[in-house]
Amino acid sequence: MIRREEHECPLCGERFFQEAPASGSSCGMWLDFQLAGAVASPRDWPECPKDGFILHREFSWEEVETLRPFIASWQYQTLRGSSPQYWRIDRMEKELGVPLRERADILLQTTWQASQHNYTFFAGMALKAFRERMASSAAGGERRDRFVRDCMVTGELYRRLGFFDKAEALFARLVSTPQVATDAFCRKYVERQLHLIGEQDDGSRLLDDALTV
Ligand SMILES: [Zn+2]
Repeated sequence: MIRREEHECPLCGERFFQEAPASGSSCGMWLDFQLAGAVASPRDWPECPKDGFILHREFSWEEVETLRPFIASWQYQTLRGSSPQYWRIDRMEKELGVPLRERADILLQTTWQASQHNYTFFAGMALKAFRERMASSAAGGERRDRFVRDCMVTGELYRRLGFFDKAEALFARLVSTPQVATDAFCRKYVERQLHLIGEQDDGSRLLDDALTV
């Protein structure tokens, strides 16, 4: 059964209904960490039908006021019909001063919504954000598990964009780290990547090549 949820736009006060995300089941994942199968990945966020304000999180009063002229702008309104919702989420967060490295996951999800035509552009933006985040976490000694995942995503984006040498160098370095050597998931992931890189395969691929979706 489809569940409908009521939302209120923090910008204009419009009340609107939108379908709640259906709970589907995934059957594996793509190498860029998008879930595969009958599941919305990424999920769609409620969006005001009047002005296109996206409710992907709670906003403070100051944030809403900062966003007001941007949402009303021609620049944002033009994007409404022509670009992925996550790209507009990224633009909103950028407008609020959120640095690129902290928008890395939003940009990765933008690539999941991209078409063949604009994939390269969004993947390039995501790659830049992940490289910045890796550089800052390497310097700041941040959580090791996130750093390994960031390396995997960066390597995947290199592969998808055809930078096979860079992807190979990154995964070859990763495979010798203790976490990857002892973690079955990480090992499987890196082995699959190195195989695809060897084949010069830049396609969208599942982690488990035996699965079909
Ligand atoms: Zn609104």
